Amino acid sequence: MSDNTCQTYVPATPFVVVPDNATPLHIPHRSRNVPPDAWCDYDRPVPPSWAELAARRGFRIDRRVRDRYHLALECLSCGAYTAVKIAALRDAAVRCGGCAARDREQNAQGAGLTFLRRDPVARHYGYFRAPCGHTVRRQFELIQRVRSGKTGLRCALCLVAREQDEARAHGWHRIGSDFAGNPAYRLYRHACGHVQRIARVNMRHGQCDCARCGESWSSKPSVIYLARISLPGLAGDVVKFGYSAHPRKRFKHQLGLPKSARVRFVRLLEMPSGHAACAAEKAANARLARDFPDLVVPQTIYRGLINVRSEIYWPAILGEIEAELDRISGQTQAR
Ligand SMILES: [Zn+2]
Ligand SMILES: [Zn+2]
Ligand SMILES: [Zn+2]
Repeated sequence: MSDNTCQTYVPATPFVVVPDNATPLHIPHRSRNVPPDAWCDYDRPVPPSWAELAARRGFRIDRRVRDRYHLALECLSCGAYTAVKIAALRDAAVRCGGCAARDREQNAQGAGLTFLRRDPVARHYGYFRAPCGHTVRRQFELIQRVRSGKTGLRCALCLVAREQDEARAHGWHRIGSDFAGNPAYRLYRHACGHVQRIARVNMRHGQCDCARCGESWSSKPSVIYLARISLPGLAGDVVKFGYSAHPRKRFKHQLGLPKSARVRFVRLLEMPSGHAACAAEKAANARLARDFPDLVVPQTIYRGLINVRSEIYWPAILGEIEAELDRISGQTQAR
């Protein structure tokens, strides 16, 4: 044997392969952590009774390897070499590493995939190249069912890309999977910034009303509101300045306010479209936050009481917001 005997692993088949200069040796997966050079020849004779036993199992004993418990078998059907325990030859059906690798590759091919490698940790899983070119990780057993037509195989990356396109077509951005864990739902962000969970099938068909701006965000009327809210446990009121197609509904159902909270609308300014309302409100809130940072209520104060992350002010800002509303009203009417 040459110096490079038992030097490298090629873990690309169901068995680990330890190549020597003549033929690679398949090692059962459970022995994958045994160092490669442990599989060198074990120089002892092979008793004739073992050879008979091996022949009955469809193998020829090539040599003894590693220690007094192991053999290298040659498969009489494919010619590959596999290391086994002598005890396994007696008690159990011995599998040929070469035949197993071939089965795995044929299964993958039959399912329209290319087998790449085993999962080094989970022995029932492997990595495959899908027809789209992406690498997918699947159970071997599932590949068999795909092959027999009992189930299909969807590439998760392609699915995400498709869902991203569907969302974009309707003015949404797909953020991720549903935080509530419902597999039929996804999390989306509307063009207005509002984040919402929507059934994927509804998004595909464009049935995806934004809870904040209402249906057809760009064209339907909307309202910019200024509301005073008294929250339980807070000495003074806070002020919310925002927009919605249905402000009362929004406060009642979407902001997660405690039952004991009191809401009083100081002003409701009707806007011709959700688009106009969104643009005007965003610009005004940005100005207010920049010019009156002391009047912005820190989120820590209302966390858990109102389900928003900004646009909450102390009442001292009311005059400034009224001025903003006057200006927006004037601009809208001038159009
Ligand atoms: Zn074989
Ligand atoms: Zn793909
Ligand atoms: Zn929206």
